[in-house]
Amino acid sequence: MVASERVDVLYAAADVDRRIEDLAREIVTTLPEDFLLIGVLKGCFMFVADLARALDRAGATPGIEFIRLASYGLGKESSGEVQVVGDLPGDIRGRQVLVVDDIQDTGRTLAVAQRLLIQRGAAKVWSCALLDKPSRREVDFKADFIGFDIEDVFVVGYGIDYAERYRHLPYIGIVRHGGA
Ligand code: 5GP
Ligand code: MG
Repeated sequence: MVASERVDVLYAAADVDRRIEDLAREIVTTLPEDFLLIGVLKGCFMFVADLARALDRAGATPGIEFIRLASYGLGKESSGEVQVVGDLPGDIRGRQVLVVDDIQDTGRTLAVAQRLLIQRGAAKVWSCALLDKPSRREVDFKADFIGFDIEDVFVVGYGIDYAERYRHLPYIGIVRHGGA
């Protein structure tokens, strides 16, 4: 942690666990048992690991794959452009896909991901974000499954970084600068 920064807890690990358990149950009521879960790296890694185990408890048998997309640089503002920086290794033609991201902000990343996966031949694509900031939306897109709606605050932890720090935190927090 940088001396002038502090991270306040927004959702404790137990709150995240509880919400993911419910989210998995919502997902299995809608998707076929053997769907393909595609996580958007890197921010999704902890969420996907916990969601996969909750999906198992809820009776699903998803395949797991990852794609790496980037829009943020090292700061807090998006470049507004979404790039594929690590592609899917395999064929997804005819698959029922659930694309999973950490946060839905402007909406661009999940909108681009969904379009890309349809272009690659997926039969149907649902989307899921652990966090949603509805007040920040710039494109008309809403994930089908959302963990928590949050205000316009910059969050870290539980896989989510600020300049590559804080991904390891087991909870979701808000970065405060200058002891404010
Ligand atoms: P969108 O394409 O919807 O604008 O942005 C989604 C991506 O922006 C997320 O996957 C995440 O990487 C990044 N992002 C949005 N809000 C935050 C935030 O509060 N903290 C961090 N670290 N990244 C964010
Ligand atoms: Mg991201």
